[in-house]
Amino acid sequence: MKKILLLVLLAACALVFSGENTSSVKICILGSCAGTEPQKGRHHTAWLLQTGSKLYQFDAGENCAYTAHLAGYDLSQLRAIFISHPHQDHVSGLPHLVMVRNKLASARFKRKMAVKPLPIYTPIPTLVTGLQDFLTATTCGRYDYRSGTNITGKTVRDGKFFDDQTLSVEALHNRHCGDPDKTGQWFSFSYKITVNGKKIVYSGDIRRLEEMSPFLRDCDLLLMENGHHKPWQVAEKIRQTPAWKVKRLIFLHHGRSVLNTPEETARKTEKAWGKPAEFAVDGMTLML
Ligand SMILES: [Zn+2]
Ligand SMILES: [Zn+2]
Repeated sequence: MKKILLLVLLAACALVFSGENTSSVKICILGSCAGTEPQKGRHHTAWLLQTGSKLYQFDAGENCAYTAHLAGYDLSQLRAIFISHPHQDHVSGLPHLVMVRNKLASARFKRKMAVKPLPIYTPIPTLVTGLQDFLTATTCGRYDYRSGTNITGKTVRDGKFFDDQTLSVEALHNRHCGDPDKTGQWFSFSYKITVNGKKIVYSGDIRRLEEMSPFLRDCDLLLMENGHHKPWQVAEKIRQTPAWKVKRLIFLHHGRSVLNTPEETARKTEKAWGKPAEFAVDGMTLML
């Protein structure tokens, strides 16, 4: 009898475990625009990845927490935030995002400090120390669930720097923010995310497509910025480079071509890509 019970228990555990590993991956674009002046219906760059109940956020442009919360995502389930580089159009939503996360997470603990600090991965540590000072100042000097002690800054360097057994992230520097500082620290990174057997590449902002070459050799989905690049030139270059295998290409961080001449841009990019090109809009979701 005991043996049967043990077998049933093991089978249940295996089911739960396999369920966790085969959770679908959902991506939500919270902001699809490059760092332009305000655009109707578009916000600066941010996107969420959800698998099971876990949430991970990449970049944090203006208003990202508002969009995510109203779209039904539980930001108290955020496991980490990954910042590609510290330009405003990628980080200006951070203070509000952290405040909302802490508010939702701490509500469960009667507003005590029980909520675990949220890791923020960034090329520049002062982004997080400055954010901590700002958050603490906004609590009128009190240290409580809203203050900056509820986040932890982690410095991004090349290579795999995050792996929680659900999702791993690898960084590759680029020259979008110029040369590294005196210590060799780069300011801008592209990310390769591996989750549920899928490989997602997020360009961040980059100077040249070739900077991401190692990441493009095996890529199920490329989320590619076009604030500094013409989408049709990107599509053409990828198609013409045999070593690169990009199965799906979605443009985000839109620049003037997409914003001002969307039809013409879509037509030219479709011709270069050989099939209809995909351009992100705010609130768009996709399943992997
Ligand atoms: Zn940008
Ligand atoms: Zn930038």
